[in-house]
Amino acid sequence: MSLLYTDSKELLPLFIAGERRLGRGDESQTTYPATGEVVGRLRTPSLEDVNEAIEAADHAFRHSGWAQRKPHERAAMLHRVAQLIRERAEPLAQRQRQDNGKPISETRALVASAASTFQFFAAACETMEETLTPSRGDFFTMSVHEPMGVVAAITPWNSPIASEAQKLAPALAAGCSVVVKPAEVTPLMALELAAICEEAGLPKGMISVLPGRGSVMGDAITRHPLVKRVSFTGGTSTGKHIARIAADKMMPVSMELGGKSATMVLADANLDHAVNGVLYGIFSSSGESCIAGSRLFVARQHYAEFMERLAAKAAALRVGDPCDERTQMGPLITAKHRDSIEQYVAKGLAEGGQLRIGGKRPDGPLFERGNYYLPTIIEGLNNRATIAQEEIFGPVLVAMPFDDEDDLLAQANDSVYALAAGIWTGDYKKAWRIGRAVQAGTVWINTYKQFSISTPFGGWNDSGLGREKGRLGIQQYMEQKAMYWGL
Ligand code: NAD
Repeated sequence: MSLLYTDSKELLPLFIAGERRLGRGDESQTTYPATGEVVGRLRTPSLEDVNEAIEAADHAFRHSGWAQRKPHERAAMLHRVAQLIRERAEPLAQRQRQDNGKPISETRALVASAASTFQFFAAACETMEETLTPSRGDFFTMSVHEPMGVVAAITPWNSPIASEAQKLAPALAAGCSVVVKPAEVTPLMALELAAICEEAGLPKGMISVLPGRGSVMGDAITRHPLVKRVSFTGGTSTGKHIARIAADKMMPVSMELGGKSATMVLADANLDHAVNGVLYGIFSSSGESCIAGSRLFVARQHYAEFMERLAAKAAALRVGDPCDERTQMGPLITAKHRDSIEQYVAKGLAEGGQLRIGGKRPDGPLFERGNYYLPTIIEGLNNRATIAQEEIFGPVLVAMPFDDEDDLLAQANDSVYALAAGIWTGDYKKAWRIGRAVQAGTVWINTYKQFSISTPFGGWNDSGLGREKGRLGIQQYMEQKAMYWGL
């Protein structure tokens, strides 16, 4: 099964207002982070294209009949999308590898997750029901949910197809039309997903895909009066900017933002499991993950032994070609992003940190053209250090010892972020106590980065607002209405 967007020489058509056509804005290109080679060229939409796409989405919402279809009919289309994703899973995974440079083992998992997301929301769509309150004698009430209309899905570059599926599937299940604004550097997966939705029978105009600069395209979409909700995943400062615009429009938003998650290894933990979990938590996806466990706290009595084992395993991680199934860490998304990681590492060292491993680019011909960086561990700092407070979004772990539970919780909770946390312990009562006391939207106990689509996900504080996934994920794209029936 072939994909739409395989020719890197031709300008790629976008999905604008129910048509596959070129944007009328500037030319832009997407490159393979492992080699710098161009893998897609397109013309971004003009502001006129943005308006046309949103007006067409509004028209399709009102007149295509999608919102009025019975839930099981919308569910059938979502099931078909899941099936089509699975049928072309390998080409999609290969394309995503080119789009953002993740190792092929990871992009396969992301494609599988996108298919599962559509399947889950197809099932959830079929179970949508209204709530009836008991009659009071002279009336009864019903609580119903109505789709909001045009919603915007604004996504980052780190997990393209999965992020877009998490917004598209529930929004379409709700009956909404969607304008997708993928990250500028990774536009390909959103375009493929729109093509698949159309092939699965979604009426034309229900999806537009508008890649391009966030400060132009994303801003115009957010401000448009016909856009009734923004579901955003990205950096905290961008999220706050969007939330300010939304406040003026009195528009609901959901925000999946940054993180600085704490992983905690208690004195009674199984150290082998903990080493593997901490390693995976920070270095999978090259640390370019909102939930990366980037602050490590280890019980002081085991600190030296634990760090010995962790550093040895981290130094042995296979950094390399994303095509190779054995590769554990691929390149970073762009050279500019690697520069920012290098600046953070330099800052950590300037503030008194000591480099345990990494802190540089790998040597060798394979790495010359890609944005590679070695797994890096810095010790000797406390939780107030810049690199323990700010999100680096790369393969950099700050490791610190702790003395007792109070000390651990005080440090772990000393962050503006509260997205996720990991606890390794053999004592379930301690896990419960610390798990309840730590500020985080998700807490993993003796595991890390495991996900279930049926479990709501989101952050507190600067890590976000609202929840994605879960059976009720569809309702965030709907307004609630109370209906009173006189008897
Ligand atoms: P970013 O905030 O720079 O961009 C995210 C998206 O917003 C992109 O599509 C971008 O073009 C768009 N955008 C930028 N400026 C905009 C504006 N003014 N108005 C509207 N849209 C605008 O983030 P990024 O660098 O692409 O992604 C990395 C960030 O995303 C990290 O902070 C990471 O933690 C976060 N993230 C969070 C989650 C989560 O679920 N909590 C998941 C993945 C990534």
